[in-house]
Amino acid sequence: MSVYPSVRFLFSAAAAAQFPIDHGTEVAIVGRSNAGKSSAINAICGRRSLARTSKTPGRTRLLNFFELVPDARLIDLPGYGYAAGAREDQAVWARLIEMLVPRRSLRGLLLVVDARRGLLEADQQLLHWAERIGRPVHVLLAKSDQLNRAQARQLLTDTQRCLEGHGSAQLFSAHDGTGVLQARERPEAWLEIRGPKKEDPGST
Ligand code: GDP
Repeated sequence: MSVYPSVRFLFSAAAAAQFPIDHGTEVAIVGRSNAGKSSAINAICGRRSLARTSKTPGRTRLLNFFELVPDARLIDLPGYGYAAGAREDQAVWARLIEMLVPRRSLRGLLLVVDARRGLLEADQQLLHWAERIGRPVHVLLAKSDQLNRAQARQLLTDTQRCLEGHGSAQLFSAHDGTGVLQARERPEAWLEIRGPKKEDPGST
């Protein structure tokens, strides 16, 4: 049994007209390509391959909507951090995320960061953007299993200092289950989900 028994992929969208009705609550999940975003979505949802859908060729430049429980959705954005010069891709990405701004349902952003790299410039830009549009951010320092304890503690402290009260951060690993329960709490609060069954990390 999954943490969210009825979690499901809804659909992909390229234009605001294709979005679900702006009703209920939503959390957008963002991060650099390869940061561990799909693995984080799967771990948070308690499903092994839910977010594989969003990696299907043709869907990687789209917003992918998942329903956790009725009227509470996760929105998976394409990974950013393209090679320098790929301005066209950056423009597509910026257009996608700007389409979310008017949505009253959008309550916050989960920013997935590779713990071995920490917050990079593109992540900082995203943080500034979130502040500008008045949405809170929670940072998942993903792949934390790749750091030793001292490095992990230092990274968490540095990241929290960098956020300066404009967001929160935690260590996270989809591989060893670090922080999975904590990573559900913030979106659940934003999504106003009450009482989903909490199970061990990695359960399917
Ligand atoms: P995305 O491109 O941001 O969606 O990232 P993926 O979830 O596809 O992960 C990118 C790579 O990082 C894959 O090779 C994963 O196996 C690896 N990865 C993801 N999460 C973890 C983690 O918690 N620990 C480690 N060591 N590797 C991870």
